[in-house]
Amino acid sequence: MPMNAPAIEFKGVTYRYGASPPALEDVTCAIPQGAFVGIVGPNGAGKSTFIRLILGLITPSKGSVSVTGAPPREARKMGHIGYVPQKISQSDFRFPATVEEVVLSGRTALRGIGRFFTQEDRRQAADAMHMTGIGHLGKRLAGTLSGGERQRVFIARALAGNPRLLILDEPETGVDAATSHDFFALLKTFHQNGLTIVLVSHDLSVMAKEAQNILCLNRRLIGHCTPHELGDADILTRLYGTDVTFLQHHH
Ligand code: ADP
Repeated sequence: MPMNAPAIEFKGVTYRYGASPPALEDVTCAIPQGAFVGIVGPNGAGKSTFIRLILGLITPSKGSVSVTGAPPREARKMGHIGYVPQKISQSDFRFPATVEEVVLSGRTALRGIGRFFTQEDRRQAADAMHMTGIGHLGKRLAGTLSGGERQRVFIARALAGNPRLLILDEPETGVDAATSHDFFALLKTFHQNGLTIVLVSHDLSVMAKEAQNILCLNRRLIGHCTPHELGDADILTRLYGTDVTFLQHHH
């Protein structure tokens, strides 16, 4: 892997679902290693499509995507991408998996389905639980945890593969300010330790407060901006149309 390759690179990427108009059109951008980037845009802007392309679940109709200098599927197989899916706190565990088992399943991409986990897998899973503050919950059934704890389990699961890149899709940042603060404090620690973080959210106020850089998507790339500039009328109009006011939280 090229050492200085961007964490994520899109070159002229267009993606269409079947015969529909493009969900993403001619997107070119590079997210450097070590960045903490927020991706914002209204519903239907192509945010999930952008993530699916990074994960290699779909391939561009036109253009190319690379992750840590490799095709996304290879990057995933090498364990470079940690992914935290949407709506974790509401997800319904129909099988009785313990926290430890859920976290360990984050090593499956590296081992292959059906292989036995090694000591190294167990060590990495234990480290990930420790880093996310859920070490004491290992034997609990994941279905019995609170929403905030469950989110940590899925972050630990993503970290268990020892990734270079952590992607969080619409994380629920907690029902109260304290949970939200803890959640972002945790992400900042990982970021300070060198992890690239990509956070997708429609919540502009959270993004403006927490991300270092913002990538504005509305089918096309509207632009890169700083969290401060996210309040600019021009960018908001291009993202959401005319009648939008942006309320920034001041803490
Ligand atoms: P966002 O995550 O920003 O809400 P999406 O990437 O989910 O946006 O969707 C972008 C566009 O692609 C939307 O018009 C949506 O209806 C369409 N789309 C998303 N997924 C599919 C799919 N599986 N099949 C057909 N169209 C899809």
